[in-house]
Parts: sequence; structure tokens; C-alpha cells
Amino acid sequence: MNPTNTKANEQVTVQPRRAVLEMPEYHPPLAGRDGLRLDFNENTLAPSPRVADRILQINTDGLTRYPERGPVEETVADHFGLAPSEVLLTNGVDEAIHLICETFLEPEDEALIAVPTFFMYEVYVAATGAKTKHVQADESLQFPLDNFLASINEHTKLIAIASPNNPTGAVVGRDTLLRIAEAAPQAVVILDEAYYHFYGDSMINDIHRQPNIIIARTFSKAYGLAGLRIGMLAGDESLMRHVRKVCSPYNVNAIALDCLPTALEDTEYIRWYVNQIQANRTLLEKTLNMLGIRYWPSRANFVLMHIGPLHKEFVVAMRRRHVLVRDRSSDPGCNGNVRITIGPEDHTARGITAMEASLIEIGWRKIDG
Ligand code: PMP
Repeated sequence: MNPTNTKANEQVTVQPRRAVLEMPEYHPPLAGRDGLRLDFNENTLAPSPRVADRILQINTDGLTRYPERGPVEETVADHFGLAPSEVLLTNGVDEAIHLICETFLEPEDEALIAVPTFFMYEVYVAATGAKTKHVQADESLQFPLDNFLASINEHTKLIAIASPNNPTGAVVGRDTLLRIAEAAPQAVVILDEAYYHFYGDSMINDIHRQPNIIIARTFSKAYGLAGLRIGMLAGDESLMRHVRKVCSPYNVNAIALDCLPTALEDTEYIRWYVNQIQANRTLLEKTLNMLGIRYWPSRANFVLMHIGPLHKEFVVAMRRRHVLVRDRSSDPGCNGNVRITIGPEDHTARGITAMEASLIEIGWRKIDG
């Protein structure tokens, strides 16, 4: 070994791009999730039983091949009444957001988001070196439309809106979304419909009318396939062909591709699950009213509630009862707020029972809120 080279090696270290050095990190608290999972807005029960059967039929020959996305994209496009060139299957919506940022953002561009919202928009924007401009919602946590419109400028290249939004559960109406997209024709508007099923209104059919809108959908929530990692983008072919260039040809694994058509076919299961969530959302909101806990009306499969200064103690007390909920206090404008996922009847009942006991244990009083 040459001692001179060794010294040189000690001095020279590999550095990532400046944007990567400076980007925020996201470490979701995935460890120790034994218990009732009311913390990540997943399906708390199971996917369609038909998907479980399908998985058992997968043979190893299918695993030796590179996965072929194309035929499944045709099935999915058919399901949504779109052309295959308008659909891209992705490794969850997380990858979809990453691909949009990589495809459209230059370091001098700006992305615009209303906060609080899903954190990954900011992470992937930052990785490109572009800046994120935040528009803060007021106490109502409704979408801050006037300030948002006023924040659009010639540098705005990406607008990311989740409707229903996470963690607030608030929605943005179709006319408002069209107004925003029209006000920023130079920008891609990613409309994240991850929680679409629990709401019911979609803009997937507006992608032709307003071609700068791209819709993101996940199969992690109502479909119960978060572990398979599958989501999709739907957009005008003029945009989607660029995104497709950036995307790996094998981004979605063979098992997810095999299961997706079966999951889509079982519309009865989705109807049942969504009905359960909507009924139990009403029940949870009624309970929160009775307990005197302030909450934000939600169109998703979760509710954001204001526990106040005892938010940490509340989350710990819930965990002691094997019910996991998510402290959202560090989200902008959310100090003291905790988010609880809604599951089918028995899961929500267990969540409510644990909540009532936890509030007593920590000595919560309405005045604390
Ligand atoms: N968008 C929103 C608004 C979300 O809340 C989530 C999940 N927390 C995602 C996207 C991520 O979805 P996926 O599992 O498909 O990556």
C-alpha cells in the first residue's frame, strides 16, 4: 500500500449534491407498530380476500422474469376509461411524486404547497434543488385559496395539492382546482387523490380539459395494499410521456402487478370497506363532540383532533392500550394535534374505548384544549 495514497484518500471524501446535503429527512415512526394501527391511515383490516387467493397462486417462474408493467397499465387505463399512454403505474404515490419532481423541476424553479400537508412533496422537491414555497392555512385548516393564488408567479413550476388533504382531511373543490391550474399554465399541478375513495369526488376525467393537471392515486389506502407498494399517475399524454422516460421500466414489482387487476375487479370489497369507514367517521366525530374535543371535519379515513398540551401523554397512554395514533404537533399550525385513523366498526370501537380511558388517565380537561 502506498502511504501517500492512503493520506490522499483520507482527505478526499465523496460529497452528495448540495441539494441533497440541504434537503429535509423523513423518518416515519415505523418501529414497534404492534397493536391496532390507527397511525398511518392504512387500511386497518386486510385487502380483498380475492387478492389473498391470487398471491397464493403466484409461482416462482413469475418471479424469475422482469415485471412487465404495460399489460397491467392497459387494464388500469380501461378501468378508468383512459388511454394506456395516460396511465403510469408507480411504486406507490411516493415514487410518483419523486418522478414528477425529477421530470419537471429545474433548481431555479419553485414548487407551491399549502401547509400542513403530506411531507414527501417537500422532500422530493428539495432533492432537485428547487425551492418549496409554503402557504400556511389558518386555524380552520381549510385550503388557503386567496393566499395560494397570490403566491403563484412565473417561477412556479409545480403545485402539489392533496384532496382530501393529509393530515387535515379537508378537500378542495373541483372549480377551485381548475382555477388554480388555469392560473399557472406553466406549472404541473399534481392532485393527490390518495384518499379519494373516502370522499368520492375525483378529477381524473378533467385531465383532458386541463392538461397541466396530473392525478395521483394509491392502492395503499382503501385497497389495503400499502405493503405491495403500488400507485399510479393519470395525466395527459403530452406530460406523461416525459414522466415515463424518467421512470425505471421495472419500478413496480411482479407481485403487485399480478394482484392489481384482481384488486380492481373486487369493487364490492371496496364498497364495503369505504361504507365502514364513512359510517365510523361519523361515529368518531360524534364521540369527539360528546367528549368536547375539537376536531377538523374530515373526508378521509382519519380525523385530526386537538388534544392540546397533553398531546404526548395522550399518544403514550393510547400506546399502553395497544392503540397507535400519530402526533402531528410538529406539522405547521398543528401544535397539540393528534391524528387517528378510522378503521371498520370493531377497530374504531377499540380506538374510541382506548381514547376515553387515555383521556381520563392523563387528566385531560376541555380547558386544556
Ligand atoms: N399521498 C398522501 C396524501 C398520503 O397521505 C400518502 C401516505 N401517507 C401518500 C401519498 C403515499 O402513498 P403511497 O403509499 O402510495 O406511497
